[in-house]
Amino acid sequence: MKKYLYGVDLGGTSVKLGLFDVEGTVIEKFSIKTDTSNGGNTILKDIAGAILTNMNTHNINKDEVNGIGIGVPGPVSDGIVNRCVNLGWGVVNVKADLEALTNIPVSVSNDANIAGLGELWQGGGAGFRNLVFFTLGTGVGGAVVVDNQIINGVNGAGGELGHAPIPDADEGFMCNCGNSGCLETVASATGIVRVTNKLLADLDDASTLRDRPHLSAKQVFDAAKEGDKIALEAVEYFGKNLGYICSVIAVTNNPEVFVFGGGVSNAGTIITDVVQKYFKKYAFFAVSEVTKFKLATLGNDAGIFGAAFLAKKL
Ligand SMILES: [Zn+2]
Repeated sequence: MKKYLYGVDLGGTSVKLGLFDVEGTVIEKFSIKTDTSNGGNTILKDIAGAILTNMNTHNINKDEVNGIGIGVPGPVSDGIVNRCVNLGWGVVNVKADLEALTNIPVSVSNDANIAGLGELWQGGGAGFRNLVFFTLGTGVGGAVVVDNQIINGVNGAGGELGHAPIPDADEGFMCNCGNSGCLETVASATGIVRVTNKLLADLDDASTLRDRPHLSAKQVFDAAKEGDKIALEAVEYFGKNLGYICSVIAVTNNPEVFVFGGGVSNAGTIITDVVQKYFKKYAFFAVSEVTKFKLATLGNDAGIFGAAFLAKKL
């Protein structure tokens, strides 16, 4: 009988792994270092070794494991990864290679998508089947899940929500992707600081945020909660852009819930409140009332949960 799942979140410095039962309860979390030397050619061997050792420890047979799910930091198509700069990888057939090393079925997706799936299965989106997930970190990532299926699109760019253009994109900041005015340039942690610094330069209002050499997004949200005028303006701008993009997404795939994770979301319900405020302003009436806004709950474990969910669906 299939009783167990393995979820693997492969990052540039470490690999997080989780042993789960098929209901989604974590039995053990563990991690290994990501060895990126020699083009990262031992990474999958190291992961297979860690899983097989863990199975030994728990006296688990291969026929009791439904599968291994793995999230990788790069675009994935049919189990094949096409260039992961962080790992030193070119084209790697993760599914075939890891299956050969473990003799267990493997399912592969990218890291932003598995985080969204994790939140859908056991986190802020638990109980729903249609979710849109934003990771608000150094950059902005995303995942679009429709009826429990990740939307990858024609070349894996489905869910790249950080590069959705904001309303005044022509006047926006330059993005790493080469366009200007991507959501990421104003709604990531660095984007929020960038917007706040511009407001501090443009406006004369007194602010506790002035003359801070290392302004952070957390400080901006903390100051907004204290009523700081500039910080409040920065938060409104954040909510306006994110709320606008959510209103466009809402008439595209009509999700039940938007979930917000990543470091920025630690600011709490100020995030969901301000996004929802602008969403209600822009959204079509049929989606305005039914769409829910929630914070992610799994933190850094979202990836292993989502990877385990991939393994469950094998
Ligand atoms: Zn961009």
